[in-house]
Amino acid sequence: MKKNQICSFCVMDQSDPEIIFLGAKGCNNCHSMLSNLKDNQEIGVSGSENLSKTVDKIKRSRKKYEFDSVLGISGGLDSSYMALKCFDWGLQPLLLHVDTGWNSEVAVRNIQAIIDFTGWKLHTYVLDWNEMRDLHLAYLKSGISNQDVPQDHAIFSVLYKFASKNNVKYIINGGNTATEGIFPRKWHGSSMDARNLIDIHRTFGTTKLTKYPTTSFLKLYFYYPFIKKIKPIRLLNFIRYDRHLAITELETRTEWKSYPQKHGESNFTRFFQEYFLITRFGIDKRRSHLSSNIVTGQISRDKALTILSRLPYEPEALRRDTEYICRKLRISSVEFNLYLNLPKKNSSDFKNWEKYYNLMKFFQLLGERYLKVKIRMYR
Ligand SMILES: [Zn+2]
Repeated sequence: MKKNQICSFCVMDQSDPEIIFLGAKGCNNCHSMLSNLKDNQEIGVSGSENLSKTVDKIKRSRKKYEFDSVLGISGGLDSSYMALKCFDWGLQPLLLHVDTGWNSEVAVRNIQAIIDFTGWKLHTYVLDWNEMRDLHLAYLKSGISNQDVPQDHAIFSVLYKFASKNNVKYIINGGNTATEGIFPRKWHGSSMDARNLIDIHRTFGTTKLTKYPTTSFLKLYFYYPFIKKIKPIRLLNFIRYDRHLAITELETRTEWKSYPQKHGESNFTRFFQEYFLITRFGIDKRRSHLSSNIVTGQISRDKALTILSRLPYEPEALRRDTEYICRKLRISSVEFNLYLNLPKKNSSDFKNWEKYYNLMKFFQLLGERYLKVKIRMYR
């Protein structure tokens, strides 16, 4: 194998340690995304029929209530466009925003633009900053790649807790296959693994986590889906989702403004994805997003390669964002640099629930084989 080999169809490369090059057919990543798209009943010819059935089901689930679902909104493109489409389809979600402390000014204005347009209620859950800060520092000290777990885990936990408390059956989110269909599983572990999060914090944290919301294994895989019957749902997968068209539609119909880069809604996520992961772990998430866009025909491979040849960060913006992160985490730039150069670790070097997950998957497959039904599980 040549050094730095890139797939001939998408732009995935050897930064995915499990990549298999298939010659002119592409690689295992784009190949399996293409076949998933073909098998996927949610999009394609039957998409609109499935969409209206699902929308009806959501509406019927809470007919007499003020809202029929919960929609997690960050102010970013995906969740904002999701809100716009839900409005068009006549859904009445409650907007739930989790303030992790890293909102950019544009994100705050964009959330307001969606509220003004839809007239929906917004519920904001503000995380305790001292605990968030301690968790962020623990993750930095741990040396693992996924530094976004403290934000992601809290967001999903708050959404589930809210839905459970208010007996809401559907959690709508802006996740989608069109931009996230390709994601190498070796890049990083699951954000939902609370056992992993607690162990990392126990090892490197300095304060107690008393307010930070977590979701246990039993709650995530049994209580929420089977007892409370809560279903996370990605409605963008029911339509042809094109990010460029979505931006135009949002900007034309509402006061929403586009971001210069993906994840411009969170100051930390931007730094994490567009600097930290690239320089420290050689993982460029633009690569998987662009590859997904190639598979769905939204961008050419040549254009994707041109984008990848440019550094995502202007040096001045990087300096400004680094300064901001240090100030916010109340550490010096020297200390921050020290954390960015610690020995690299894997999330599996800490306690995790992988073996419980694998055991559950085993019983799921066994159940499917003998009961002849498809059991849906979310990761
Ligand atoms: Zn490929």
